[in-house]
Amino acid sequence: TKEDVKSYLFRNAFVLLTVTAVIVGTILGFALRPYKMSYREVKYFSFPGELLMRMLQMLVLPLIISSLVTGMAALDSKASGKMGMRAVVYYMTTTVIAVVIGIIIVIIIHPGKGTKENMHREGKIVQVTAADAFLDLIRNMFPPNLVEACFKQFKTNYEKKSFKVPIQPNDTLVGAVINNVSEAMETLTRIKEELVPVPGSVNGVNALGLVVFYMCFGFVIGNMKEQGQALREFFDSLNEAIMRLVAVIMWYAPLGILFLIAGKIVEMEDMGVIGGQLAMYTVTVIVGLLIHAVIVLPLLYFLVTRKNPWVFIGGLLQALVTALGTSSSSATLPITFKCLEENNGVDKRVTRFVLPVGATINMDGTALYEALAAIFIAQVNNFELNFGQIITISITATAASIGAAGIPQAGLVTMVIVLTSVGLPTDDITLIIAVDWFLDRLRTTTNVLGDSLGAGIVEHLSRHELKNRDVEMGNSVIEE
Ligand code: ASP
Repeated sequence: TKEDVKSYLFRNAFVLLTVTAVIVGTILGFALRPYKMSYREVKYFSFPGELLMRMLQMLVLPLIISSLVTGMAALDSKASGKMGMRAVVYYMTTTVIAVVIGIIIVIIIHPGKGTKENMHREGKIVQVTAADAFLDLIRNMFPPNLVEACFKQFKTNYEKKSFKVPIQPNDTLVGAVINNVSEAMETLTRIKEELVPVPGSVNGVNALGLVVFYMCFGFVIGNMKEQGQALREFFDSLNEAIMRLVAVIMWYAPLGILFLIAGKIVEMEDMGVIGGQLAMYTVTVIVGLLIHAVIVLPLLYFLVTRKNPWVFIGGLLQALVTALGTSSSSATLPITFKCLEENNGVDKRVTRFVLPVGATINMDGTALYEALAAIFIAQVNNFELNFGQIITISITATAASIGAAGIPQAGLVTMVIVLTSVGLPTDDITLIIAVDWFLDRLRTTTNVLGDSLGAGIVEHLSRHELKNRDVEMGNSVIEE
């Protein structure tokens, strides 16, 4: 019908715009590189991109809250329990597979040559114990003050100054505190030495704590019958309103992405610093991520649902490109919701429930990366890892990916846990920083893909519960 044609064009307009944004952004970035823009000029130039980041982050908090509450409240406790189990099993399985791929690939390709003398270093890293980081993660699940949890969490429970991580100016939460460009560089140097994102935080907000609370909250009001009605309706309509705002931002997204990509290409270091080993390392990470994202995840989706994974992934294109542009799976979340619900028709009760959790704890790309990077660092140190140590790396890489926030380069921060667990020098994280901005984008895209395919898989596995619930609630049941 005419409506169908219109909606087809509408959807493809997005695909077209998004792809154009990536291509034009890349070309523009390389074309402007010879002009050697100053820090300030780059800041001005990538301003439209910075705005996109801010708009997306603006919506993340109300979106996570309202979708978790409505998602949980829309299910009965049996259905949510089952769905939750399926999601957790999916998250764990895919994360472990990702770690194993990372380990196998880095052992086969062996990018580290047992020497790091001529390798470029950037920044400084100082120890933090795995136990501290782990306790911090658990601690953050229970924010003592919910209002405070919505604010930037600059403090950590680590000893002050015990943890130094180089942070890129406009890439992280730090970017948000720099309002005065002329002070930027100085502030940045100071902040770099003192602040670090809290494990499980989104843009400095304690997302993990909010996820835990609002899941329980939604669960409770879902079981409250009439007394819960007012709250259920409130969060439902809040969620609807936020999604309408997301729809507006979707139209701005391609422009923002164009400038995010172009700006990053303009300001990136010359490739000269990247020596042979680091280049090999980069290739190894890319191969690992590709195997996971292009072979393993789609295959898993196909085996479970018997549907074409590429059609599903096609519907996700804008979310994937946003992940590539923003380096943040949390900032991408609003777009991921839109793509899944509108293009792929995934049931809202599933997306609302599994996406916020997935974006916070399910990071296949990050897990793969951390295991691979740890073994690479062992290789350049001529450090023979025994089987037990490789198992330790797999476990800590999994934990570190759960603890990593969905913000740019968070994976680099949680690397410390993996390295300390097997006694590798954490200072050697500085060897891989030069390429991290790039690899971060790829692992973020993998993370978003994993969350999205997970939503599709959980929906398929839960179709009976969803249908029963529809019958129970008197909703019209649409047969496939
Ligand atoms: N940037 C990644 C994400 O947002 C996390 C990471 O650094 O690995 O998913």
